[in-house]
Amino acid sequence: MATGKITLPHKCPQCGKVAATYQELDDKFGFRNMNADSMRNQSWCRDCRKKS
Ligand SMILES: [Zn+2]
Repeated sequence: MATGKITLPHKCPQCGKVAATYQELDDKFGFRNMNADSMRNQSWCRDCRKKS
């Protein structure tokens, strides 16, 4: 698996949303579609990333 830098549970530092499983990560944060560099630099959830 190339899930890399993210450890569970993962919490969005912006809004505090938590994903306890990789399924939730994919649903709330969308990390599965991001590369390793983006995962390391962007730990915010979908909603928070959308605003920036
Ligand atoms: Zn967030």
